Amino acid sequence: MTTLYANAHVVTMDDAGSEHQGGWLLVDDEMISAVGGGPEPQADVRIDLGAAVVTPGLVNTHHHLYQTLTRTRAQEADLFTWLRTLYPVWSRIDAESEYAAARTGLAELALSGCTTVFDHHYVFPRGREGLIEAEVQAALELGVRIVASRGSMDLGVSDGGLPPDELVEDIDAVLAETERLAADLHEPGPCARVQLAVAPCSPFSVTGRLMEESAALARRLGLPLHTHLAETVEEEEYCLELYGCRPVEYLERLGWLADDVWCAHCVHLSEDDIARFAGTGTGVAHCPTSNLRLGAGVAPVRDMLDAGVRVGLGVDGSASNERSDLFFEVKQALLVARGRGGGTAMTARDAIRLGTRGGAAVLRRDDIGSLEPGKCADFVAWGTSGLELGGADDPVAGIVFAGPQRPELVVVGGEPIVREGELVRAEEAEIARAHRAEARRFLP
Ligand SMILES: [Zn+2]
Repeated sequence: MTTLYANAHVVTMDDAGSEHQGGWLLVDDEMISAVGGGPEPQADVRIDLGAAVVTPGLVNTHHHLYQTLTRTRAQEADLFTWLRTLYPVWSRIDAESEYAAARTGLAELALSGCTTVFDHHYVFPRGREGLIEAEVQAALELGVRIVASRGSMDLGVSDGGLPPDELVEDIDAVLAETERLAADLHEPGPCARVQLAVAPCSPFSVTGRLMEESAALARRLGLPLHTHLAETVEEEEYCLELYGCRPVEYLERLGWLADDVWCAHCVHLSEDDIARFAGTGTGVAHCPTSNLRLGAGVAPVRDMLDAGVRVGLGVDGSASNERSDLFFEVKQALLVARGRGGGTAMTARDAIRLGTRGGAAVLRRDDIGSLEPGKCADFVAWGTSGLELGGADDPVAGIVFAGPQRPELVVVGGEPIVREGELVRAEEAEIARAHRAEARRFLP
């Protein structure tokens, strides 16, 4: 069964940055079989997109879905104060609330044009089972691809860490549970719907031993590695005091600067740090709104891109970026890059590339992120006939500068999961109601 999506401005995000005005996309089952402009190929079904801009589906490279349950807390706090306020609240999480939280976050992401979501889950209160399974179930139901992670914390406050002792785990239990989830959930091949990453939380909540053993396990199982890094000035001071070096040097010592690793934030990287990231192939999840919300600073993304670092975008958890709208991060990435480096620091197309192809590269997925024959049919149609694009002479720049807006159509693996701006497989109002019922237990 073939479907032709026609009458669109197709932004492929291929290596050459090809775009097709009056373009089309031919989808065969779950894959793209052709893309172009001019004469249309034959297909079983033809869908007219009404001059929409079509981009690859967005790829979210950093999130904590459970945090939708705890928005607007610690409103004027820096990272460490914010974390100390929230850890005890997060310790109430269980599979039911995780499921409700994941449905909300994933639905928001899908409605912002996101088709693949990485989630970093690192809060595992004792005796609560099924947290990762709950978010994977939510993703499968909504139709979004998920890269879940078995995160971890083992450095409690009594050992000089930040999290309370009751939220840290035993190393052997963490590793055994990670291996079990990998065997149960991880799909290695192209167009995988569910994958698993290994993701100890941060230098101030995880011991060096768990970092090293996590890396060894991930490399034995062929899973990617993720952690938070260089988010704030306070983290750098903490590393200097506890480990006698800055965060990037610490990571290097642990064998964590490598092409199977990506780190969230990387706000406080020196020129030398950026060169090390580029030289080792280490990736970065840039989360501009969260960094602004917590007053952490602005990551030097233009310098990273110029050095050849893999960079993708992340909304981060909803406790530090209350809105899970990945296209808003596309716009925000452009604005903060220009705030740092001037009006030529990032183009609209550069920003879309970060959110699509960049994210796919960060997750080491060459099956998504661009619209080319042989790739998964994950794409988004952005309407161009609304008020906000009136007078725009470049609709591609228009969707970024005037964004974010709800996409008209979001397709994952050839199947629409958002149509006419609404979820196809679930009802938004029902998700919101169920989420509010669960979120009550997390109120102060
Ligand atoms: Zn985070």
